[in-house]
Amino acid sequence: MSETVKIVRTVHDLRKITRKWRDRGHSIGLVPTMGALHAGHISLVKLAKKKADRAVVSIFVNPTQFAANEDLSRYPRDEAGDLEKLRTADVDLVWAPSVEEMYPLGYSTGVRAGSAAKELEGEFRPGHFDGVATVCAKLFNQVTADIAVFGEKDFQQLTVLRQMVRDLNMPLKLIGAPTKRDTDGLALSSRNAYLSLTERKIAPALYATISALAEDVSEGADIATGVANAKRKVIAAGFKKIDYIEVRDAETLGPATPESGRPLRVLAACWLGKTRLIDNVAV
Ligand code: AMP
Repeated sequence: MSETVKIVRTVHDLRKITRKWRDRGHSIGLVPTMGALHAGHISLVKLAKKKADRAVVSIFVNPTQFAANEDLSRYPRDEAGDLEKLRTADVDLVWAPSVEEMYPLGYSTGVRAGSAAKELEGEFRPGHFDGVATVCAKLFNQVTADIAVFGEKDFQQLTVLRQMVRDLNMPLKLIGAPTKRDTDGLALSSRNAYLSLTERKIAPALYATISALAEDVSEGADIATGVANAKRKVIAAGFKKIDYIEVRDAETLGPATPESGRPLRVLAACWLGKTRLIDNVAV
């Protein structure tokens, strides 16, 4: 492990390094993040290190994936802490561009996310996945990644990006990594830092509820009834509002067809006070 982690902030400096790696025949794995790193991010780094010769972590809080009313300005940032964690995780390079480096004056091209982006998060966060798809396309090109690792925590994001890579013939492979959870089941998230002590105690009810729903559906329970019960349970636990709790086809995120035997996924987004938590589990 080195004493410091190498960090670059311009595409020019990034390319100098990745070109050298490629000349030596090294493959490159990328883990895109928005910083405020936790053990979930680090599990992705470990996977990237296993799957590629070189591991790059990007830290970029992408303004274009936040709507005007969202938490861009209060999104947690801790670059010094992040760099220390990445040094310990032994990453080869941290790619931390400024907003101006990413979107210089005159920037005007973007990716329109595909059908997997339409509903669920897409309905409640209009434009979000266009922003995600565009920044990820840029990151893939900038880093010249052979693989990129994404968490199943953001299951729809992973699905949307798989669709983009396939549809646009991008020359890299996406790898999904399982969700890291706290001991009480709450999915690790940078946004958990917003929760008050009381809210933090309520928060695991989301995972408990969607896990129970997944179990019931896998045993043949009626989906509509199960979902209605799950919604009642999270509200009773203390959640304020439900954006959605749904059972969907795990590959297309279209309607669930249990009779077809295709894999299903439960996906949820619920508000705990002013904090919006998302989670999902396999059926
Ligand atoms: P973010 O910094 O929130 O944009 O997340 C960066 C990457 O880390 C995304 O691929 C997320 O899906 C992934 N991630 C976030 N939380 C977790 C978690 N608890 N377990 C595994 N991966 C996660």
